[in-house]
Amino acid sequence: MRKEFRFYFFMEFIDLKTQQARIKGEIDERIAAVLAHGRYIMGPEVSEVEQQLAEYVGVEHCLTVSSGTDALLIALIALGVGPGDEVVTVPYTWISTAEVIALLGAKPVFVDIDEHTWNMDPVLLGAAISDKTKAIMPVGIYGQPANLREIQAISEKRGGIPVIEDAAQCFGSTHHGRKSCSETLIGCTSFFPSKPLGCYGDGGAVFTNDSKIADLMRQIRVHGQKSKHFHPILGMNGRMDTLQAAILLPKLAIFDEEIAKRQQVAARYTEAIRSSSSRIVTPFVADGNTSVWAQYTILAEARDRLREALATDGIPSVSYYAMPLHLQPVFENLGYQKGDFPVTERVADQCLSLPINPYLSDEEINTVCKTFSS
Ligand SMILES: *Cc1c(COP(=O)(O)O)cnc(C)c1O
Repeated sequence: MRKEFRFYFFMEFIDLKTQQARIKGEIDERIAAVLAHGRYIMGPEVSEVEQQLAEYVGVEHCLTVSSGTDALLIALIALGVGPGDEVVTVPYTWISTAEVIALLGAKPVFVDIDEHTWNMDPVLLGAAISDKTKAIMPVGIYGQPANLREIQAISEKRGGIPVIEDAAQCFGSTHHGRKSCSETLIGCTSFFPSKPLGCYGDGGAVFTNDSKIADLMRQIRVHGQKSKHFHPILGMNGRMDTLQAAILLPKLAIFDEEIAKRQQVAARYTEAIRSSSSRIVTPFVADGNTSVWAQYTILAEARDRLREALATDGIPSVSYYAMPLHLQPVFENLGYQKGDFPVTERVADQCLSLPINPYLSDEEINTVCKTFSS
């Protein structure tokens, strides 16, 4: 058996406790209110948070759902994606993005990522589109949106193929001044606890300006039900718990402030790493984009050695994502080979995410920065 080294970590990779301590009073009150009214499913907090989220993003409709994965699934069901269809996405993302396509019997078609932003490369998108393409699903990896303007332009040129933004990591970011989840036909996000805006369990949301699609997704969220005990279409149980909506409300109130703090931490990391180590690639935020820094990810050729060195200094780090989706055993049937997506594969081999959250102390930030200058 491989020997496991145990390190004493000076900071947590994901710290949810400091935020909780800050807003514990409001969260407790909100939870108590739900327990008092007892409407655990689709209670008043659900529509309250949906209204606030729609306003935050700047779209007509927001529906909260059971998870980020279910948000994507509901979006694809609403577009009628099924067997024989293709959905174009990236191999460098969390499994959910491609999983939901395959679950519906459709085929995920991958395009490589851009070498700077690590998001879908719009230059490669055109060649991946066929007459079977039912949707395009760009992902905003690590916190900055994909090149949605370019992707939208290509979709329009090809007859208006629907674009679904997987914004599970970039919710709250902007692309040419517009909030993530507002630019494409449907935007999907996740409130998994460790995402930039997280609840205390599973949760997610879908966003759209299209009233017809919003109604359809609302129906899919409750078993395809149109009116009580009348089910014209197939749906699922895709609702978010009232308790999670209640918890999200006080968190949404401080979200922008937390994003600003994440941006400050990222700027300090980048400055420290750039001034000390020319061999490490720091994250690149494209012109016209802002990032919410779901992850602060660097590329290092000697990634595994760097991870050990960081751990020795008490700094946890994680490789998101060391194995790209086209090389995952579950997608073997798609017929992709090693070498098919060279940028994805290089980034997967070299990526290392450092601890980032709005509540890192100066001492913690300095500890990370110092590791790179020694
Ligand atoms: C987290 C994540 C999801 C899935 O969200 P869940 O709420 O965990 O289901 C989907 N796509 C991306 C890119 C993610 O990071």
